[in-house]
Amino acid sequence: MKSIRETEEKVQKPGPKSNKILINKDLLPSKGKYYKTDLFARKLSAIEMKELSKVTRESVDRVFNSTIASAIDGIELSDVQRNDKLWLIYYLRSITYNDIPMKVEGECKSCKKKAWYDYRLMNLDVVYAEKELEKELVLPNGDTLELRFPTIGDEIEIARTKNNPAYIENIDTDVMTVASHISSINGEAVSIYEAYTYFARGKGSALDYAKLVSHLKKFAFGARPYAKFPCSCGEYAEAEVPLTTAFFLPEI
Ligand SMILES: [Zn+2]
Repeated sequence: MKSIRETEEKVQKPGPKSNKILINKDLLPSKGKYYKTDLFARKLSAIEMKELSKVTRESVDRVFNSTIASAIDGIELSDVQRNDKLWLIYYLRSITYNDIPMKVEGECKSCKKKAWYDYRLMNLDVVYAEKELEKELVLPNGDTLELRFPTIGDEIEIARTKNNPAYIENIDTDVMTVASHISSINGEAVSIYEAYTYFARGKGSALDYAKLVSHLKKFAFGARPYAKFPCSCGEYAEAEVPLTTAFFLPEI
């Protein structure tokens, strides 16, 4: 049986002539812990790169999401971990240009030396999901939460809820993002909005909220738009890697 399954798997995977690249899930901030399938990527087109180079604060979510939806295969956009999203954008830029370096200026936090470095994907500052999320959390008030990490689908729902005119209150996005980690309270499934109201005007106090935030911090993962480079003093220099036109359309 095993050998038949292995053969099938081999057939399903794209061959060397395919333009799809199998993503090594270990490289993802989530380490692929929350994906059951293989993920594939393809190089971005000139038009897609141009779109990325022109993102604004207003368009960034839409452009990043549509880029990931069309260039990443093997998973629905809504199932992609929210905390893998930024890394995937850096990754797509990297495979599209064969990781062509970009000059960034870094400063060492220890010796304060400033220098120019060649940014490549391997330098991106990534916090990996080392431990599996402890899904059950008992709050100081005695309630038991079941937890998960939010996906891009959840992020889209948060944006939709925030813009829903039916909710006249001013929704705090940070609190709602934390609340989106809750899938059930005392065994009862809750929507993101319900989880939010639990802290906005429900039983969840500031102490309970602080407990939840501290718990999630222990398992947090993700990429930030910074890179680290070994400094001559033995410490690390840090440089911002901004998602600018020069990054997506490098001078070559
Ligand atoms: Zn240094």
